[in-house]
Amino acid sequence: MLVPKLTLLLVLLHAAFGSAYRWFNWQYEVTCECDAYIAPQNEEAAAEFLKEQYPKGSHIKVVGNGHGFGNLSTCVDNSLTDKSSYIVSLTNLKHLEINKKDMTVTFGAGWDVYDLTEVLKVNNLTFSNLGVERVQNFVGAASTGTHGSGSNIGNIASQIIGLRVLDAQGHLRIINEKHNAEELKAFRVSLGALGLITEMTIKVQPTLLMKRTTKVLNATSDFSIMYNEIAQLYKEHERMTVWGPHFDWNAKTQSWDLEPTYFLSYWELTDYDGVRNCSSNYCANGCGDCKKEYFCYDDVIDAASCPPQGVCSREFYAEIEHFLPIEYFAEAATNYTYYQQSQTPRMDTPYNYLMVMQHRSLKGDDAYMSPVNTYNLDPSLSGVFGIIEIDWIQEYNNFTTLWQNQELAYEFLPKFGEAYNVRPHWNKMNPPNATYTLEKFPMLPKFLAIQERQDPKCQFVNDFLYRQLGIERCADFISM
Ligand SMILES: Cc1cc2nc3c(=O)[nH]c(=O)nc-3n(C[C@H](O)[C@H](O)[C@H](O)COP(=O)(O)OP(=O)(O)OC[C@H]3O[C@@H](n4cnc5c(N)ncnc54)[C@H](O)[C@@H]3O)c2cc1C
Repeated sequence: MLVPKLTLLLVLLHAAFGSAYRWFNWQYEVTCECDAYIAPQNEEAAAEFLKEQYPKGSHIKVVGNGHGFGNLSTCVDNSLTDKSSYIVSLTNLKHLEINKKDMTVTFGAGWDVYDLTEVLKVNNLTFSNLGVERVQNFVGAASTGTHGSGSNIGNIASQIIGLRVLDAQGHLRIINEKHNAEELKAFRVSLGALGLITEMTIKVQPTLLMKRTTKVLNATSDFSIMYNEIAQLYKEHERMTVWGPHFDWNAKTQSWDLEPTYFLSYWELTDYDGVRNCSSNYCANGCGDCKKEYFCYDDVIDAASCPPQGVCSREFYAEIEHFLPIEYFAEAATNYTYYQQSQTPRMDTPYNYLMVMQHRSLKGDDAYMSPVNTYNLDPSLSGVFGIIEIDWIQEYNNFTTLWQNQELAYEFLPKFGEAYNVRPHWNKMNPPNATYTLEKFPMLPKFLAIQERQDPKCQFVNDFLYRQLGIERCADFISM
């Protein structure tokens, strides 16, 4: 128990210096300090908070679960500004309504992907657009275009058919397919730049059973041969994730040794419901004894993505994820791999451990800021995207190594972006280049016009959004 004198001292200190809140992302390398963490109890309280802050022009960063690799969800650090700066989480908005007639689910912004999928399962419902893990907040995941793998399925955001959003003045706007279909294209992947989304309505399906088959393949250092084989497999399997090639750090030679084998999983619809056993092996997330041939059956949720128990490693890692027309996949993946190898001599920090390439496919869409938007695609292309991910995993959490690997990761986009019409994942290490963004996201001017209406005083803007999107009217957002 605190003695009265100490309590008084703490109260005085609080009054003198105010309280502060330090925000960290999932692996603690993205951080900022703001004045407070605000978690309104409901939409009205969130609107009230925004109304109070608007005249003061306070900085406001709405966050989900901070499960990203870049500075997208960073607040304006209060050492940089005279204004107040807040992190807002809508975690308390937990209402949910299932409409089986329309096959829709409407839910508050507080729902995490895992909890939502568990409720859907109990109600014999599902959706098939899931990332590898389910640890994100649903709105946070949708807001960056989080995705799984499938040439005929879109990202998580593509199933959104309506939402409620508060602008910087606390005004509520309802956007849906019926009343404002064009604006929905801006709000599906909104990067937290268009306001506080308080509720979403998504399309769902009846339970979908899948068979997941895992195969082990031989790797070869002739990457062109290997990736052409993989590109062929993408023609044969609509839903497939390739985990490989894998490289192990060789401390003696200070280079990456190619592992002789890698594995892939593909998913097929089935009506077999005798077992649901994909979660007994977490290889959907690369955990466990993954390099072995096997199959399992499950609801698509557990067949294609991992519950939190399947998160086997939380060592630091750097990661890039790039989307490009699938027609360019084999050549691009070959060049990415050779380029990574050319970087190896510069990886001179300790604790490198494993490097995994991961490949997926995804159907293109028309969300303005979706990494798989089809607005600038040549009509001769299919509209399906290939995805190249590289993970540099450490054996020990060391910031120097993490930061060096992240610096090297930044080099891939300038190197290959133009050649292969590459768009990076918003929450995975992109170097800022607003000219490039405009080229790959032709609807950016429309997005920014809505951004201005929603946020006239640039309160939702942080350094990431200002520099990535080139929001010139917000050049002085810190002091505006
Ligand atoms: C280990 C790991 C594995 C991953 N695997 C995948 C994968 O398989 N596929 C994939 O595509 N991505 C993957 N990601 C990336 C991840 O899915 C995205 O970064 C996702 O956006 C994180 O969601 P979050 O809830 O943590 O959101 P945050 O990072 O907290 O926020 C993301 C964005 O959403 C905005 N936002 C949050 N809530 C609201 C709201 N209520 N209203 C308006 N805007 C809001 C934020 O402002 C921010 O711009 C992975 C990330 C990690 C760290």
